[in-house]
Amino acid sequence: MNQKFIPHPVIEAERPSFKSVNASPVKETALDVMAGDGGYEEAYLGDHLRFKMKRDGKRFWAGDNISEYVTDEFKERLIDEAAEAFETVLDRLLIDRENDPNSKGTAKRLAKMYFNEVMAGRYDPAPDATAFPNDSADRYEGMLVVRSELRSMCSHHHQPVSGVAYIGIIAANKLIGLSKYTRIAQWCARRGTLQEELANDIAREIMKATDATDVGVYVQAVHGCCENRGIMAHSSLTQTTVLKGAFKDDQSTKKEFFDNIKLQQDFAPR
Ligand SMILES: [Zn+2]
Repeated sequence: MNQKFIPHPVIEAERPSFKSVNASPVKETALDVMAGDGGYEEAYLGDHLRFKMKRDGKRFWAGDNISEYVTDEFKERLIDEAAEAFETVLDRLLIDRENDPNSKGTAKRLAKMYFNEVMAGRYDPAPDATAFPNDSADRYEGMLVVRSELRSMCSHHHQPVSGVAYIGIIAANKLIGLSKYTRIAQWCARRGTLQEELANDIAREIMKATDATDVGVYVQAVHGCCENRGIMAHSSLTQTTVLKGAFKDDQSTKKEFFDNIKLQQDFAPR
């Protein structure tokens, strides 16, 4: 005879409410904005913020930056909440997180890794890219191509994506420090992404930071979701290109960009 599974009634752990926990010195927090919202108080800060973004019509896909909703003080709490949820995931995967020494702190490690590392670009504001004027008589008018190493992860499987972006611009009226191109690219990459979207995101943010209208972004990456699972292809390489302004319309600019990429690849093959 089959043993019947009788579910236990779920005992809801008493969770402190936000209003008591979050005695924030900040004047207007997301929680203040929540006040008077039908009197409903969610048990998790993550739910609070999720509902708030929904009400605001704010998109919060894996590749979207939501830093305006996630303050540093919130982040600590969100990490604790995610750790609790990861404990449940490990339990459901039947991994003994009580006795396996390697799995003991895994839930918290995963939560911290998501917020502070692999998806940091969702929660952190854009890197500060101070612009310098490039408007004197002997201004730089040439092409600039920066090679940026990228680490990302695919939204579909949360598998690592690693590669390089080549960012080309024709200098406009302002310039940013060379390292800022890479900081911006990495900020775009450290989210759940699709490579096609990532190349677009980098182009958009570089245009924003530099005022340049002539921008090219070429991304070359290998995807864990093709290497570690699925087709298990170890050498599959995906290339995406986004061209704006002269990079798109002017054949010689386009050629110069790809010639530069070739030179860079000879210099530092990935
Ligand atoms: Zn994938």
